[in-house]
Amino acid sequence: MSQKETRLDIVRAQYALYKERPMDLTIARGIPSKKQLKLSEGLVNDVKIDDWLSEDEIDIRNYGGLYGIKEARELFGSLLNTTVEETFVGGNSSLQLMFAVLSHHMYTKEKAWNKDKDKPIKFICPSPGYDRHWFMLEHLGIEMIPVELTGNGPDMEVVEKLVSQDASIKGMFVVPKYNNPTGESVSDDVVDRLATMHTAAEDFVILWDNAYVVHHLRDEKVEVKDIFAASKTAGNPDRVIQFVSTSKMTLPGAGVAAMGASVDNLQEMASHFGKQLISFDKINQKRHVAFLKDRETIEAHMEKHAEILAPKFDWIEAILSAYFHGDRESFVTWTSPKGGYFVHLTTDEGCASKIVEKMTAIGISLTPANAAYPYGINPLNNSIRLAPSFATLDHLEIAMEALCVCIELVTLEKYESL
Ligand code: PMP
Repeated sequence: MSQKETRLDIVRAQYALYKERPMDLTIARGIPSKKQLKLSEGLVNDVKIDDWLSEDEIDIRNYGGLYGIKEARELFGSLLNTTVEETFVGGNSSLQLMFAVLSHHMYTKEKAWNKDKDKPIKFICPSPGYDRHWFMLEHLGIEMIPVELTGNGPDMEVVEKLVSQDASIKGMFVVPKYNNPTGESVSDDVVDRLATMHTAAEDFVILWDNAYVVHHLRDEKVEVKDIFAASKTAGNPDRVIQFVSTSKMTLPGAGVAAMGASVDNLQEMASHFGKQLISFDKINQKRHVAFLKDRETIEAHMEKHAEILAPKFDWIEAILSAYFHGDRESFVTWTSPKGGYFVHLTTDEGCASKIVEKMTAIGISLTPANAAYPYGINPLNNSIRLAPSFATLDHLEIAMEALCVCIELVTLEKYESL
């Protein structure tokens, strides 16, 4: 090293080497790896159906049973804390159920939100959150109001103030457990406040997306207080609609999704779905009941996912903490989630999009910087989501080492130019 060579020179040289030999890796989306998918091949190869009638005597090969078969409603009810009557089992995507709930409220319900087309309809968006929720709201013409997450769920001071004053705020998304991407879970206090808060809109609705309800990574398994029970006790039984799916339990392309809500809410949605289809795929529902059986069997199955996933999160933790200490400690902070699929990085202000660009230029794709904010707008430009599930450990190691170099390079360049 020549005497004049600075740390920035060294990091630039390292990055130039990466550029000479670009890779083809992705840690962009929360997709289960092949090893994880293998865990559920039995769903298709081993489950044999001899009885084509469901417990409530619907022939699963035929039309009928729009609410789903009884045994599937029971199984998903065990995840949603709902009775059979309060559980609706759909197709393979919970996002599709959420979209249906929103579009029905917005356009087709008797008192549809956008009846008066000149008035805006708004939603609270706890951020950083799930980009596909934001895409959905934007597509439906619902204005998004970001509210910061605190580590225990949304900042309730802000939420309470907004919803109590503005009747055009019609609802909010919450990912209660192991949030995508921050990994945080909502506290009992947040559950109680969401269930009881005064809302200026009478038809305010909380879309409770429990996508990671049994997706623990560690021995400590976070449990979230039952919001449906709390909202019933508070006299708001129609406020909460819960969602869950097996996308990250079995096969994302061929799983089952469910919705838990008041009987009135489900009736409303069943009538909405009844205009689109006659029934969902009940054979797949039956297969899932045969394969996943009950809550206990689901938990045991999820342990196998955790065995595959946890080392990837350990690796990220190890690489980031080895690199970012001492002089570099302030360059980035990261989450250490107890479950879910993501690690969230908070970079130095103004650096996130440049870091993702540098990674893309060497063939490693990440989720676009700041995508976890509504409209992709984060004035601090400091948010990056890592989705390590799909990559092998070897590839993850390569991607993380390159990421460390890119973070350091962009941060040093920022201070050099100041
Ligand atoms: N909600 C959240 C919070 C998610 O992270 C994901 C998957 N990335 C989904 C929903 C997708 O659910 P589904 O496959 O059931 O549509």
